[in-house]
Amino acid sequence: MEVRVRFAPSPTGFLHVGGLRTALYNYLFARKHNGKMILRIEDTDRTRLVENAIDNLINSLKWAGIEYNEGPDKAGEYGPYIQSERLDIYKKYALELVEKGLAYYAFDTSDEIEEMRKNSSETFGTKYNREAMRNQLTLGEDETKKILASGHDFVIRLMVPFDHEVSFNDIIRGEVKVSTNDIDDQVLLKSDGFPTYHLANVVDDHLMKISHVIRGEEWLPSTPKHVLLYNYFGWEIPKFAHLPLLLNKDKSKLSKRQGSVAVEDFREKGYLKDAFINFIALLGWNPTGDREIYSLDELIEYFNLEKVNKGGAVFDVQKLDWVNQQYLKSVNFNEVAKEISLVSKEKFGKLYDSEFLNKVFNLFKERVTFVSEITSIADYMFSDINEFDKDYIQKKWLPGTEEIVIELIKVYENCNNFEHDELSSKTKEFALGLGKKLGDIIHPIRIMITGKSTGAGMFETMEVLGKTECLKRMSYFIQNKIYDV
Ligand code: GLU
Repeated sequence: MEVRVRFAPSPTGFLHVGGLRTALYNYLFARKHNGKMILRIEDTDRTRLVENAIDNLINSLKWAGIEYNEGPDKAGEYGPYIQSERLDIYKKYALELVEKGLAYYAFDTSDEIEEMRKNSSETFGTKYNREAMRNQLTLGEDETKKILASGHDFVIRLMVPFDHEVSFNDIIRGEVKVSTNDIDDQVLLKSDGFPTYHLANVVDDHLMKISHVIRGEEWLPSTPKHVLLYNYFGWEIPKFAHLPLLLNKDKSKLSKRQGSVAVEDFREKGYLKDAFINFIALLGWNPTGDREIYSLDELIEYFNLEKVNKGGAVFDVQKLDWVNQQYLKSVNFNEVAKEISLVSKEKFGKLYDSEFLNKVFNLFKERVTFVSEITSIADYMFSDINEFDKDYIQKKWLPGTEEIVIELIKVYENCNNFEHDELSSKTKEFALGLGKKLGDIIHPIRIMITGKSTGAGMFETMEVLGKTECLKRMSYFIQNKIYDV
């Protein structure tokens, strides 16, 4: 059997990180089994549509590198892949069930339904009371036809029997059993002519030959209805895998209230795509249990739905930051060049050449979580020093340092190779000559050249800034007596 999976989001805004995890697991599973992944847009709830949401979804998936084989922008044998373009198909199948006596027309208004729910009945509880309401079953065939012919609004409802057990196997959760007494006569076709999620989802999964339905746990309660539908149509039931919920650190369901949940927010914050995917992949699963960093190829190789946890997975932003740091250390400069160039231009109003940016990036990449942070922790690499750390000066600028620096400037002026090795040996020699330790000299240099008490290696920093700039900063500091704090 060919593996065919689908990611089936509703275009209700941005792509949620939970949606990305679902998409990613579908992608990993398809790649692992040489199968196909389909993107299907489930836009049948017309009240929840958001403009541009489909484009946003597609862009976020593209950014994440999740490639699908068929979808709205990728023609395939089973399209269209947007449900609002398939209305005739759903109607046909709803009518087929009516024909078989497994679904029926109903004519109640929303007020009537609301009234009914208030007065729960002994047999139906708060479910739709098909024996008391205005529908094909209570009105009879002739009356129903007459009402339909008059153009009256109608819905089509699923006929759910009493006292049956619906059971199905979930790859992650094992056997799930539900009594039909707990299942409502679900609306399949709404009065606006659109199908509900349940009908459209089952019809499409069947017609698109989906072999495995991999989706979030929140859809588990819908699955018994879907199983009933598959049985009513006489269709083969796909395999199900319901992925664990994503949780906040306090174990509540992940929500906007406790931080970002939109993939595009994380992208804008500057997380590296590969780091983000690595982190998302481990929400609910870890291939070996003792590692946190995996390449995409490894994720594909190891992916195993059976090993996915049932319990919720905590979305831990601190861990995400840590993963991002790990990736930053080894990322190729080309991948971050555009960002660092944009951020520094925005902040300092100037375009820096990429060789310089590359050097600055390499100098500071181990000290930051985000590329953009470099422009704040090392702002002195991009512009003159704004502010000198007064405490640092007080502690480390000892009396007599000016005289020493004046001599040191001469040493540096005579450097032919203003590079790490030469700077290091010349400075050491100079310190030794004065009977001092290198550290005694390095602090004043750091003060004059960076204004800050911490940074990257001092000689590497000087090498990147260059001889003219370093000497300029040292002279400026002495001439203007900035050490007088
Ligand atoms: N349209 C549903 C959603 O928005 C899809 C659920 C499913 O995969 O069946 O998540």
